[in-house]
Amino acid sequence: MIKFLDLQQINAQYRQELLDAAQEVIDSGWYLQGERNRRFEEALAEFTGSPHVVLVGNGLDALRLILRAYKELGVMKDGDEIIVPANTYIATILAITDNRLIPVLVEPDIRTYNLDISRIEEAITPRTRGVMVVHLYGKACWSDELEKLARKYDLKLMEDNAQAIGARWRGIRTGNLGDAAGFSFYPGKNLGALGDSGAVATRDPEVAKTVRALANYGSERKYVNMYRGLNSRMDELQAAFLTVKLKYIDRENEMRCRIAGKYLEGIDNPKIVLPEAGEAEEHVFHIFAVRCGDRDGLQKYLSENGVQTLIHYPIPPHKQMCYREWNDLSFPVTERIHHEVLSLPMSPVMTDEEAEKVVALLNAY
Ligand SMILES: *Cc1c(COP(=O)(O)O)cnc(C)c1O
Repeated sequence: MIKFLDLQQINAQYRQELLDAAQEVIDSGWYLQGERNRRFEEALAEFTGSPHVVLVGNGLDALRLILRAYKELGVMKDGDEIIVPANTYIATILAITDNRLIPVLVEPDIRTYNLDISRIEEAITPRTRGVMVVHLYGKACWSDELEKLARKYDLKLMEDNAQAIGARWRGIRTGNLGDAAGFSFYPGKNLGALGDSGAVATRDPEVAKTVRALANYGSERKYVNMYRGLNSRMDELQAAFLTVKLKYIDRENEMRCRIAGKYLEGIDNPKIVLPEAGEAEEHVFHIFAVRCGDRDGLQKYLSENGVQTLIHYPIPPHKQMCYREWNDLSFPVTERIHHEVLSLPMSPVMTDEEAEKVVALLNAY
């Protein structure tokens, strides 16, 4: 069977280095907020080009903490609005509502699956304080127009960079394009830990300082509490693993792009719509999503022929039970994407033969 993603094989490539890293942490007797956190923060700051990095417990917390920091700093308050793509993964929206801010859902562009920047301005109201862009599926989402809107309306530009670590826009890495960015190192992401973890990157030292305190019970100095914070920190063990794996992220992304290239060149079935690789907005193919009118039939056919696929995502946020108040809203582009999208196997350890088999099956469908 061709797996959607073979995590075991991905991490087996670095087995000895990961074991050495684990041993070092075990023997150190220091498991939180130590030397390995500091080292990975530095490495990630250097990689993204962002001056400040704060490691946190997971990607959802990274996004929650950015918004919470803006509230503590007086930039945002209860009921303020944040513009966000309607087809994002639920975590982006949860981070907003968890802070008692209002997500304003805006349709994506059907060609890129990213926020349709031309539709932002009509969604801006006097309560709009920011835009949370999502580099969905690994494709950078950015433009001059977006920066112009932010200046014109005094908006914070935030990035949900859970899926696109390593991608660039005009040479700048995602996570260093806006005012603040959240990263996820969930095991299945392009840079995956061996458990949960995440990070915030920002150019603003005040945001970094506030996030760091908030993630540590709201405290900068032990037993002195500035904020009603939470406990959301990265383990030393995960930081040590991620320091090993960060060295290989560009190579791994290149291997994903090579598989994507095979798909893009090889698949020529008119029933299947391929994703845009993109020139200015790089794609690191966290997910290779195709569209098909008969998506469920295609998934069944591939499964019967030994190819595992997934759907990112089957239900859009506005149709979820937890957001019942939005269930009657209409987002036709978003709904179409959720009905038609299918994620093909994609990973840095896939072989050319496997990609060719997928291509042949799709062309025969
Ligand atoms: C994975 C993901 C998150 C959440 O990250 P976790 O580490 O799983 O909490 C947020 N946004 C997007 C777009 C994601 O893909």
